[in-house]
Amino acid sequence: MYDGGMPTPMKPPAPVSMNETDEIDDASQHLRARIQWFVTASEVPRVIATYSMAPKSCDACKKPIPPGSVEYDIGFSTLIFRLDADCYALWTAEMLRSSTKSQTA
Ligand SMILES: [Zn+2]
Repeated sequence: MYDGGMPTPMKPPAPVSMNETDEIDDASQHLRARIQWFVTASEVPRVIATYSMAPKSCDACKKPIPPGSVEYDIGFSTLIFRLDADCYALWTAEMLRSSTKSQTA
């Protein structure tokens, strides 16, 4: 029977590089910051959901909205912008957050 004698040292696993997830976080942070530009708690906006007829791009993420997919035209008295479905979802969440914030004040 062979006896190695020395116990094999247990090494902790090397920490996984987080670089990729950091970049994604940065991008979504950036997008959220852009969307907050479009959030105005003091006004109820006019929202029109339509099917995109011609190629346009989302005002928040700048991604193209392909013809046939839903786009949201949102208008405040001083600001009009267009969002795709993803950014619209983010925007409504931000709007809700800012309106509940202002109600407690
Ligand atoms: Zn977008």
